[in-house]
Amino acid sequence: MNTIGHLINGTTTANDSRQQEVMNPSTSAVIAKVALASRATVEDAIAAAEAAYPAWRDTPPIKRARILFRFKELLETNADKICELITREHGKVLGDAMGELQRGIENVEYACGIPELLKGEHSRNVGPGIDAWSEFQPLGVCAGITPFNFPAMVPLWMWPMAIACGNTFVLKPSERAPSSALFIAQLGLEAGIPAGVLNLVNGDKEAVDTLLTDQRIQAVSFVGSTPVAEYVYRTGTASGKRVQAFGGAKNHAVIMPDADLDSAANALMGAAYGSCGERCMAISVAVAVGDAVADALIGKLKAHIAKLKVGDGMDNNNDMGPLISRAHLEKIRSYIAKGIEEGAELVVDGRDLKVTGFEDGNFLGACLFDKVKEGMTIHRDEIFGPVLCVMRVRTLQEAMEIINAHEYGNGTCIFTRDGEAARYFSDNIKVGMVGINVPLPVPVAYHSFGGWKRSLFGDLHAYGPDSVRFYTKRKAVTQRWPASGLREGAQFNFPSND
Ligand code: NAD
Repeated sequence: MNTIGHLINGTTTANDSRQQEVMNPSTSAVIAKVALASRATVEDAIAAAEAAYPAWRDTPPIKRARILFRFKELLETNADKICELITREHGKVLGDAMGELQRGIENVEYACGIPELLKGEHSRNVGPGIDAWSEFQPLGVCAGITPFNFPAMVPLWMWPMAIACGNTFVLKPSERAPSSALFIAQLGLEAGIPAGVLNLVNGDKEAVDTLLTDQRIQAVSFVGSTPVAEYVYRTGTASGKRVQAFGGAKNHAVIMPDADLDSAANALMGAAYGSCGERCMAISVAVAVGDAVADALIGKLKAHIAKLKVGDGMDNNNDMGPLISRAHLEKIRSYIAKGIEEGAELVVDGRDLKVTGFEDGNFLGACLFDKVKEGMTIHRDEIFGPVLCVMRVRTLQEAMEIINAHEYGNGTCIFTRDGEAARYFSDNIKVGMVGINVPLPVPVAYHSFGGWKRSLFGDLHAYGPDSVRFYTKRKAVTQRWPASGLREGAQFNFPSND
């Protein structure tokens, strides 16, 4: 059986004593083993990245960009293979995997503009014969730790920009869906990234803890669940590192009485059930303003759900694949039971779904709850599955109070034809990414991505302009070349232009 290993200093290795099984979630068959890096293995990767740093830092940005242009081409020519790797381990439908990869490629395209993005700020004559500028220097060795649900895209949020800025990198992908990130890293080396500049270690907590505490690592980007994000942020910053840690979510969509309900229902189907609800930007709560809206919306959603095709992700005719693991399926089933117990009304129950030929897969049909209230477990927790909760409120204000009081603040959206309501909503909602008639407001690659509240620990958002700042440090230089030479005698007052 194939063992998925590490990529250290340009060489693939898998010598660790610990391994874990990688499963196909459509069948529960073991399809590979993944090596779990020991501390020593991770330290080898860090050492390789540190050794490669001085030469890479001094490589002109335009040359770094040329490698990324070649890398982008390789991603495109290998897209089908990458999507198969994603689907086989994650379960999402191939077309959805292609969407994920395309979003990742857009981050590479943005990083190709690095000579422009790294331009500093310059001021001439800040004093007599004195010029000042700010430049943005790389940090050194950076690390990325990524989740299972976007196994190709989230690593591409991180390392292309980090290395474009002149850093070297150690990536630790999810051990549950490791193959696509490794294959993509190998394509990076094929495109011309020098050995040691990009390294990848597979592993679990032992690998993460090594990255968080090793003094050679300067910065850590993390994406995953909120408890781990908080742990990564606290441990990494206590160890003196720059850290951005993106966590979980509970994303609400507000449906106003004047909304185009057909469009809203269509949009909600994709946003709630696409990728089996395993997206940090999935809409998991629909807040209907008025009972009439709620009743009509539920009617439309039920009709759509009845037509939803659930099955193996390798069959692109399906809309929704399986959940990542049996344990995750059981966790979601227990949330559904809890929702019923706490008084919500399960109007569509997907628990009895059987997929012919895939009886051992982790399949769950779409579920729809009505009359969900604040305080219920299914409203409080991120379920991360195909479960959409409908809440009924009387006013937009009431909807916004529910959203603003929630511990998460990743994404939200409003469906309306009223520009004033939309503007009021986007101005006052305490959420990092807002959609207006757009259900999944994931920013494009040249804007930055990030939630508020307990959806993000740290300041700078992912990818886009913020990532250039995250992966560089500012240096301000003040320079004087007086015509008369530098020996003017000592000056004791604080220098100014007065
Ligand atoms: P996870 O937190 O279980 O794992 C993420 C990473 O952390 C993995 O690489 C894993 O190996 C590592 N890890 C897990 N437990 C650890 C521990 N105790 N100590 C150290 N490292 C540990 O997350 P997941 O289940 O892979 O991904 C789903 C979660 O990620 C959801 O909560 C989802 O909302 C979130 N997510 C957030 C965003 C975002 O941008 N905010 C994007 C995608 C996913």
